Amino acid sequence: MTKPMYEGKAKQVFATENPDELLVYFKDDATAFNGEKRGTIGNKGVLNNKISTFFFNLLSEKGIPHHFIKMLSEREMLVKKLDILPVEVVVRNIAAGSLAKRIGWEEGRKLPSTVIELYYKDDKLGDPLINNYHIKALGLATPEQVETLEAYALKINEILSAFLKDKKLELIDFKLEFGVHKGEVLLGDEISPDTCRFWDSETGQKLDKDRFRRDLGDVEEAYQEVLRRITGQ
Ligand code: 5GP
Repeated sequence: MTKPMYEGKAKQVFATENPDELLVYFKDDATAFNGEKRGTIGNKGVLNNKISTFFFNLLSEKGIPHHFIKMLSEREMLVKKLDILPVEVVVRNIAAGSLAKRIGWEEGRKLPSTVIELYYKDDKLGDPLINNYHIKALGLATPEQVETLEAYALKINEILSAFLKDKKLELIDFKLEFGVHKGEVLLGDEISPDTCRFWDSETGQKLDKDRFRRDLGDVEEAYQEVLRRITGQ
């Protein structure tokens, strides 16, 4: 197999014959706590490719521009090549994870209004929380780009939350990454149980990567359940 031009924790990225397009291969490898915890989740690559494909198609229908072109195989998708903006955008509806810790709220308490957080995408630094002043001082993105990221993030939150509610899934929080393609800001990366927290609306059962992070068991089953609920497959 040809060598990936980039290899991340959960995906490999390959060049294609078209310089504007890349092939993304979804692996079963899972890491947490900035790489301190490592393992594999059976079939994760296939499930995340299918789940992300579904969400990118849903977002297309609602006019959100993104990098996804098409699914090529069970583990591969074709995407537009992006110059990734080194700013991760986290949207939160309910306190959980690092926010619950930082502000001293119990997990599961509803936030009275949506919270957006920005993180500096840098593995060596452990993706620290930053604000608009850091972004400006470090030149990570222009103020117009940050405005665009935040506007897309809020719109995506509305679209996904409404869709998932019908499937009896609560969208607790999620992380997005964006990049620039031919001058336009596009949503990149993936939308999956690796990057979102999904809780069963009725039982509160966690159906996302927290099952791996916290050793809760039935990780593959949880990812499978998300795919089943959203696609009916
Ligand atoms: P937290 O800051 O509470 O750990 O994460 C908030 C949300 O963003 C969760 O849905 C989590 O899955 C996602 N998230 C934040 N940073 C990362 C990351 O580096 N990798 C992945 N896969 N998800 C992340």
